[in-house]
Amino acid sequence: MNDGARELDLAVIGGGASGFFTALQYAEMTEGKRVAIFEKGAEVLQKVRISGGGRCNVTHAGFDPRELVKHYPRGSRELLAAFHRWQPSDTVEWFKRLGVNLKVEADGRMFPESDSSETIIRCFLDRAEELGVPVYRKRTLLEIEAREGGGFLLVFDGLTERVAARAVCVATGSLKGSALSRSLEMLEQRVVPLVPSLFAFNVVDPRIVDLAGVSHSRVGVRREGGSGWQHGPLLITHRGFSGPAILRLSAWEARGMAEVDHHFAFVIDWLPEVGAEELAGRFAEIRRTQGAKLVKNTPISPISRRLWERIVACAGVDEQAVWGQLPKQEMRRLLDALKGARFEATGKTTNKDEFVTCGGIERKTVDFRTMESRVTPGLYFVGECLDIDGITGGFNFQAAWTTGYLAAAAVARG
Ligand SMILES: Cc1cc2nc3c(=O)[nH]c(=O)nc-3n(C[C@H](O)[C@H](O)[C@H](O)COP(=O)(O)OP(=O)(O)OC[C@H]3O[C@@H](n4cnc5c(N)ncnc54)[C@H](O)[C@@H]3O)c2cc1C
Repeated sequence: MNDGARELDLAVIGGGASGFFTALQYAEMTEGKRVAIFEKGAEVLQKVRISGGGRCNVTHAGFDPRELVKHYPRGSRELLAAFHRWQPSDTVEWFKRLGVNLKVEADGRMFPESDSSETIIRCFLDRAEELGVPVYRKRTLLEIEAREGGGFLLVFDGLTERVAARAVCVATGSLKGSALSRSLEMLEQRVVPLVPSLFAFNVVDPRIVDLAGVSHSRVGVRREGGSGWQHGPLLITHRGFSGPAILRLSAWEARGMAEVDHHFAFVIDWLPEVGAEELAGRFAEIRRTQGAKLVKNTPISPISRRLWERIVACAGVDEQAVWGQLPKQEMRRLLDALKGARFEATGKTTNKDEFVTCGGIERKTVDFRTMESRVTPGLYFVGECLDIDGITGGFNFQAAWTTGYLAAAAVARG
């Protein structure tokens, strides 16, 4: 595609989730308009392919925009109005219309009924063909030049001629190491520093040695000096801690954790449903009613036996200690070990199921009614290149669909 003479109405940069959705929506809304997708890789929709462990967690069954936005550490204010225009129910309907039914899991995550991300890829590729949207692979956009009198000229790696477009939608995903950084700078498009979000914590600690694979249904976890508790299941891994509660905390504190190079102290409450006083009361009750039992043999539900034994041992409770004769001091230590176990993270591990970038195109430089740049009219931003990110659960794709829809609708209106 080196057709400078015939100008595109919309050039979409990036053949990922947000790029495809924008281009398809635009093509559905318009007739006789020229839209094309330019993808730097040899393959399109690569992240969709690996998403959700190969199942693609397309969206989340949360249909009240005010509730939905609570899952976005960055961008919730801007997404509120946006979700009133395109939200998960619209996503579900859109896919259904194209023959892809989504199902809901107990925790609200929505997947294709096939449990395969290939279904979503096939749907996008077939629809692009039906609508006559060309997809150019191995086309890395290097520069966006604003043209006098409106529109843009696009410089692609390996293409001598520049491509002309009336509007350009940047759907390149994370801007980390992006070929476009310089061009965006020239256009005075500010980028909020990029740091990772949704990662596991590396921890070396005797309390979790050899416990890899042990999970716990619900913990509270907070960073020391951080903004508060996050709750959810937790998983002990070979490298430390992971699971929804940890990923949630990593998202909400992504920037603060990056500032200390992911070396920070955090606290786990193994029994967040039980207050410290109530737990002390339970201990007293066990002393009275099961005083002859070994402490290490009587885990408090829902803590698993293996985890309990380790917590008890690391709290310095004697292996042969029975509840009835447990010294007050040891009982205190056990209580502290359960309600406020302090750990040190010494780095992060990116979760293989889902990770995103925090930071990107500064939100206030974009009009969220249209996704158009406030500094460069005609330039649109959608998906992960924006300083918007959600926790795990389908929220990141939903942001891609919503911003893609808004951009398409705005360009279609002309
Ligand atoms: C392992 C993993 C699993 C995930 N699972 C889920 C999930 O189940 N549910 C969920 O909601 N979110 C999930 N996410 C997050 C989700 O994948 C992203 O939020 C989403 O893909 C963002 O879409 P995007 O189109 O903005 O960016 P991307 O999907 O990253 O697509 C951007 C595309 O642009 C191309 N590109 C970049 N620069 C250029 C350039 N200069 N010129 C041309 N092309 C360019 C890239 O090659 C890429 O194909 C997951 C992420 C990962 C890493």
